[in-house]
Amino acid sequence: MKQLNRTEIEQNLVHDAIVQIRKQYEQVESEEVPQELLENKYYKEYEQLDKLELLKDQHIKYCTKRLLNIGYSILYLDVGQPWCIYWPLNALCILQEDVSKYEQKIIQYLEQCKIGGFGGGPYQIEHLAPTYSSLLTLFILASPSSLGLVDRKGLEKFFWSVQDPNERGSYLMHVNGEADMRAVYIVVIMVILLKLDPKLLDGCAEYIASCQTYEGGIGGVRYSEAHGGYTFCGFAALVCMRKAHYIDQEKLLYWLVNRQMENEGGFNGRTNKVVDACYSFWQGAIFNLLILSGYLNQQLMNVYELQKYIHICQSPTGGIFDKPSKSPDAYHTSYGLSGYSLSDNQFLNPIYNIPNKSIEFVRQFFQ
Ligand SMILES: [Zn+2]
Repeated sequence: MKQLNRTEIEQNLVHDAIVQIRKQYEQVESEEVPQELLENKYYKEYEQLDKLELLKDQHIKYCTKRLLNIGYSILYLDVGQPWCIYWPLNALCILQEDVSKYEQKIIQYLEQCKIGGFGGGPYQIEHLAPTYSSLLTLFILASPSSLGLVDRKGLEKFFWSVQDPNERGSYLMHVNGEADMRAVYIVVIMVILLKLDPKLLDGCAEYIASCQTYEGGIGGVRYSEAHGGYTFCGFAALVCMRKAHYIDQEKLLYWLVNRQMENEGGFNGRTNKVVDACYSFWQGAIFNLLILSGYLNQQLMNVYELQKYIHICQSPTGGIFDKPSKSPDAYHTSYGLSGYSLSDNQFLNPIYNIPNKSIEFVRQFFQ
């Protein structure tokens, strides 16, 4: 990622600018930022805004701390412990840090969560969400010992066990759990990369297409509202299967371009909602997917404005928050940085949200 060299005085200016922007938002306590605040075009008028940059060193410190404290940092997210490894690890990768030194500790930990798929922690049942974050973590590490932990037969068995009994092509997050687009996405992209039984893909494209709404985005289940996270999941799965044409891509693009907000430069997740830094990836990556599907031949999101929004969502001491007035967390740091790195078409794989070089290694390994 491009990082400019700044003098200490300039760095302090950047910090001051962020602190001042945060102060403007201190009054805002609810999720909804008042319309007056959005309409005063504060973001656009702020003279220091163009001076901001990515606080790379601070983010590296923030993520390293979270990764080294696996035991402590995951206490608050007991059923999603592998996520607390994936988020800082992927962020460090995006920041071009060498993560191989963490490999042994991470593998030892994930071994305890593994059944065939992975549970949210040791002694928990298999669940698709931690299976996804555990597998991505092992892919990022991209070594024979990390990929040695991938049990393809066990994964196949787990995926068959979570087929939705009521809907062809849909999946449940865990046995007897809820069905939504995340589940379809995770199964599809893992079946394809790990070369599992292709029968697991039967009906998936048709099911995803049936969840595209009148607005153009994709809902979590059929007849629900179009949403950034679910639209990413559904469309990434279609692109991975080379079946992007199953949905109306023109309508998708229309919905998508209207999610990047004019005043802030960041994305919202749904119509009439406020901007949130994590959608920098969930919505931003869909543009890269539309390029991958061949529907677009150039980037249509405003990358410059998006990066500016991410700049003001940085904590001066590292980490990214969803909007000014909030505190940083590993989730928004990871997806904020993923969104930031989408400007480089070659670096990040927009289907898997890990570096392309790791995906290539996995592909070769499971030849
Ligand atoms: Zn968010």
